[in-house]
Parts: sequence; structure tokens; C-alpha cells
Amino acid sequence: MEKKYPATAEKDIIETVAKQHEYFKTGATRSCQSRIDNLLRLKAALTDHEADLTQALKQDLGKPEFEAYLSETGFTLHDLSMTIGKVKKWMQPKRTLTSLLTQPSSSRIHYSPLGVNLIIAPYNYPVNLTFSPLIAAIAAGNTAVLKTSEMTPACSAVIQRLISETFPQEFIAHIEGEVKETTILLQQKFDHIFFTGSPRVGAIVMSAAAKNLTPVTLELGGKSPCIVHEDAKLDIAVKRIVNGKFLNAGQTCIAPDYVLVHKAVEEAFLSRLKDRIVHVYGEDPKQSPDFGRIINSSHLQRISAMIDAQKVVVGGQCDADALYIAPTVLRNVTLDDRVMAEEIFGPVLSVLSYQLLDEVYAIVDRLPHHPLACYLFSENQAVQREVLDNIQSGGACINNCVFHVANHYLPFGGVGESGMGAYHGFHGFECFSHKKGVLKSATWIDVPLTYAPYGGKIKLLRKIMK
Ligand code: NAD
Repeated sequence: MEKKYPATAEKDIIETVAKQHEYFKTGATRSCQSRIDNLLRLKAALTDHEADLTQALKQDLGKPEFEAYLSETGFTLHDLSMTIGKVKKWMQPKRTLTSLLTQPSSSRIHYSPLGVNLIIAPYNYPVNLTFSPLIAAIAAGNTAVLKTSEMTPACSAVIQRLISETFPQEFIAHIEGEVKETTILLQQKFDHIFFTGSPRVGAIVMSAAAKNLTPVTLELGGKSPCIVHEDAKLDIAVKRIVNGKFLNAGQTCIAPDYVLVHKAVEEAFLSRLKDRIVHVYGEDPKQSPDFGRIINSSHLQRISAMIDAQKVVVGGQCDADALYIAPTVLRNVTLDDRVMAEEIFGPVLSVLSYQLLDEVYAIVDRLPHHPLACYLFSENQAVQREVLDNIQSGGACINNCVFHVANHYLPFGGVGESGMGAYHGFHGFECFSHKKGVLKSATWIDVPLTYAPYGGKIKLLRKIMK
């Protein structure tokens, strides 16, 4: 059955954005105390609605309670606690060096809020990817308009309630609707747009933003490779790959999209992978309480069309009515296969093999995007350095998958076609702040070097600027 989603009238969208601009100008969002109070308010609201959000995530995505806490509600609450504890320090102007030419002066970087932000979230982590940017926006002293995905109506309904009960619309608003409403939003003037979603829609967002010269942060997707080198600890590699790949039924932007395994360990890797999938999800993963569902039937059809029955070594089963695709592994995959043509974004793992790392680089290079993440399993530090140097990616893990996202001290974002800008922790605060460079010059002395008439002062200038 098609999921129905409430709409918002165009005039209400226009009015909401206008009210936020007015409210931002009052300065009410700027003080450290107001930021902390609003973050505490959000924390209380999230805690109160945690059970409803967990239930909604089950309804929209079949998300197990553990995953809902690990990657959505718990993740967000942890982010809030950290931000509340650190925002005062983050806001302090940062002292920096002053060049000889501008002496005697002192120099500081001041962080000022960008203003009115539009935050657009995708369907796969509707709580995390709505609230994590929102936390950063509030910490940096902004207002925000949120637009969640029409594909997660249960989550969006809880978020609508939570936001409207907690904040006035002129400060934080949630707009309900589909592509029509997002299109109207994109026609409004914002001070910053933070978009998480596909590269295709990212391009639509960027071109709409260009009309108003609005800066954008784009958190996009791509095909993230996972390299299993010949010296990898295979048991650990397999556990962590299964964990990162089949979380949320593979609908994770940083899930390993395909594995490049060294020929010398290919058979051992595949046999352990098969055993591990059975160990984690049982003989019939459809019965497992720990395995999610595909968001809707069109995505189910898109993913199942990538499964070449000749190449299946694990899984391959689909049940369209139950929105279920089994954890699936394909082997002997080539770059010409359909599964390598686009981001999989589902529980299908393709396995290719290599003998030389140069083959790995050539494969990654032939695919359209710089990946959002790159994973390497190897004990050899020289190999670790070489792969990090040779593969351009948004983020990376050595001997792990996906978990770099869980360290709030690391910037999280893409590069090239997987996105621009980064957030999380202080990086999120920076993402929603303008870094204003401020030079404060002394008045107790007035060095006339740069004033006309210049006379013969160029000789001294050349010495200073050398
Ligand atoms: P999507 O691009 O289809 O949708 C994202 C948002 O854009 C949704 O809110 C949707 O309503 C809106 N949208 C859709 N079509 C639009 C249009 N024509 N004009 C304006 N707005 C439109 O993405 P999705 O299917 O929800 O999510 C999956 C994609 O998101 C994958 O590519 C995945 O890799 C990426 N993703 C990236 C990250 C990250 O942090 N980099 C995180 C999660 C998902």
C-alpha cells in the first residue's frame, strides 16, 4: 500500500521562512545560554519521544530496536550531550598568529551564525540525519527549517509533533510534504542549505541554491569500496564487513558497496562470509529480529534487479510483499555488471578479486564518484598508508567499516561527487558558522609603512614580505 504523506500550503512555507528571518534578526538565538537552553529542550523532547521514534523506525524501515538506538536515537542523544558540554568552548574566538606586515595587532577567528538554514533529510536514518545537523545548527546560533523524507511518514509524524511541541515555528520548523514542498522551499532565500541524500537530488539542490548564491553542504552517496588484503585478519574482517553492510538492510550511505579481495584469500574469505551471515541472521534471515526491511517496493525492485542469479553465493531471495531482500553476496562480479553501475543501497554485497593494489586503484578510478568512504583490512602499515594516499574518499577506516561515523571528533563528509562540507562535533558547529577573521590593531603606535606617499618605502616592504 502506498504511504500517504501530509502536505503544506505554499503560503505557509513562505510565511515560515520569512518569520525565521525576522526572528534571527532579533538576535534571540545567539547567546551561549540560549543555545544551551534550546539544546537541553531538544534533549528532553527526544528523551520523551524516544519510544515513539523507535516504534516509527520499526514501522518505516523494520529497524530493530538495537539499531534504532545505536544509529538513531542513542546516536543523537550522545551528540546532544557532547554538544551541550562543549558549545561554550567552541564559541570562544580562537586566537591565531599575526603576520609581520600587520603588526602591532592581534588576530582572532570569531564564529558567527549563518542565519536561517534549510535541512533536508533522506529516508534511511530519518532521526539521526534530521537531528544531527539540527543540533549543530542550534549550537552555532541559527534557526532552521527541517524537511524530512516523504518515504518515512511514521518518523516524520513523530518529528512533526516533537518539533511543534518544543520550539516556536520562527525558530525551528518542520515542513511536511513531498517533492512539491521541497521544491517550494528551495525557491526561498536561505542563508545555508544542508542536504543529505543522493547525488542526483544534490545537483537539483545546488542549482536551486545557486540562484540565491546560498552556500550548500551536500552529504551525498556513492560506491564505497572495501579492500581485503592478503594479510588481513579474515575472521575480524568478515565480522566487521557483515556488521557494516547489513545494518539497516544495507541502506547506509557509508556501507561497503563492494569488496575487493586479494586472490590469495578469496576462497577463505567467501566461505567465512557465508558462515558469518548464517551465524548472525540464522538460516532464514527473514525470521531474524535483527534484520531490517527495504523502504518501499520501487527500491526493492531496483535492488533485486541488480542480483544476477548466476553470481549469487549467499542469499538472493526476495519477498516483495514483505519488502524483504535476504543478505546477499555475489562473486566474480565485473565492472560491466549492473550491480557496479550505481550505488547499491541495499543488502547486496558484490565481491571482486585482485592481485595487485594497482588493479584496486584502477577499479575505484573507473567508477563515477569519489567514494564517500573507503575501507581497508590489512595489518601492513605500508599498505595502509599507500591505500590512504591512492584512494580519494570522504572518510576511511582501517580494519573496520562504517564506524568512523560514530566518532564525533572526526569530520564526516564526502569529496567530489560524494559531497562537500563536513559535520559532527566541532566540525558541525563550524559547518553552521561563518568564520570571521578579525584583526585588532594597536593605536598606541601608528606605523606609516603602507601609507602614501610611498617614497622609498618599497625596499622595506620587500624585506618584510619576503
Ligand atoms: P534522495 O536524494 O532521493 O532524497 C533526499 C531528500 O530529497 C528527501 O527528503 C526527498 O524528499 C528530497 N527530494 C527527492 N527528490 C527531490 C527533488 N526532485 N527535488 C527536491 N527534493 C527532493 O535520497 P534518499 O533516497 O532519501 O536517500 C538515499 C541517498 O542518500 C543515497 O544516495 C545515500 O548514499 C545518500 N545518503 C547520504 C548520507 C551522507 O551522510 N552522506 C546519509 C544518508 C544517505
